[in-house]
Amino acid sequence: MITNAIPTDLAGAVLSIDLAALQANYRFLCKKAGKAACGAAVKGNAYGLGIEPVARALWQAGCRDFFVARPKEGEDLRALLPGAVIYVLDGLFPRQAEFYARNDLRPALISLEEAREWAAFGRRYGRALPCAIHVDTGINRLGLTLAQFDTLLADGFLRSGLSISLLMSHLACADDPPHPLNKTQMQRFRELRKKLPDVPASLANSSGIFLGKNYTNDLCRPGIALYGGNPTPGRKNPMKAVATLEGTVMQVREVKKGDTVGYSATWKAPRDSRIAILGAGYKDGVPRHLSSRQKDGPAQVFVAGKRCPIVGRISMDMMGVDVTALPAPKVQRGTPAEILGPHIDIEVAAGWAGTISYELLTRLGSRYARLYSGTANPGES
Ligand SMILES: *Cc1c(COP(=O)(O)O)cnc(C)c1O
Repeated sequence: MITNAIPTDLAGAVLSIDLAALQANYRFLCKKAGKAACGAAVKGNAYGLGIEPVARALWQAGCRDFFVARPKEGEDLRALLPGAVIYVLDGLFPRQAEFYARNDLRPALISLEEAREWAAFGRRYGRALPCAIHVDTGINRLGLTLAQFDTLLADGFLRSGLSISLLMSHLACADDPPHPLNKTQMQRFRELRKKLPDVPASLANSSGIFLGKNYTNDLCRPGIALYGGNPTPGRKNPMKAVATLEGTVMQVREVKKGDTVGYSATWKAPRDSRIAILGAGYKDGVPRHLSSRQKDGPAQVFVAGKRCPIVGRISMDMMGVDVTALPAPKVQRGTPAEILGPHIDIEVAAGWAGTISYELLTRLGSRYARLYSGTANPGES
């Protein structure tokens, strides 16, 4: 077990990260990917869960290809995993080629300008350096256009300055399988591959893996599914929960029918009620949009074996939960309550808050105790 420096008894809320579940998710995705290899998107501090334990656990599970967003993230990851292949998805930052080379980072080049800069640096450095070529097949975010890709391939001098280790593109609508853009992007990508037949190719993120073998190519790049998000929205989440966030009951109070709870008195007790006040709030990453939801039923937390509704406004440091349905002795000062985890699916909670699992995870707070469990030897790399 590794932990951060904040003692559980003093933190008010606990974030537990199950590295065995992370590894099981990785293996499940590998199986789903069939013949394709599986890498891991670990940008954003491994989607908020902590780059160090997450990267080590993934390496231990057999992952060798990692994707970060920023060069600084790449440097941090390099220090942890000397043997990993690391791609920087945001491309080559201006005047940073030397930094990438020093940290053995491979930029996912997104323009001819970046390709020329990387090739020119390679020539000064003494050899063509590895990189991915990121072509935009329809998301219109990052990447060379199809025409620019052709220009690159036709430019013999430029090409000889690059050691292209991956051809990649990114899907816009993989979480919506019937969306026509999926097939359009898949077919465009297939045409691109024909022009670089010897280079490994990568198209699928988490949801892309579930679109089938036309999408998996040589290397998949799952992120959110590794961390327990649902890659098949609308269907049952096939992934194991990795992050469990628990708040602690600080006080239980009796309120009379007609009394209100919390700021702005937004929730009024429909009957005499018992309200548990948990030590977790928006500072801890609990979205304020979970406050007293009416439409489609209230947001819930899991306490003493039962789902109970969140009532009143989420405050910075606390939130109210209606525990009237539970026997009084079951909920007391010090009782833990699950806000996210195996009983409160992250995707469902994100839906309550009007957001997505990615945002919930990456906005988790920093002041709770973090407990990492589940690998035989978390220090091993
Ligand atoms: C973040 C990212 C991924 C991972 O996406 P998930 O939906 O989290 O699986 C893959 N590829 C690129 C280019 C990304 O930016």
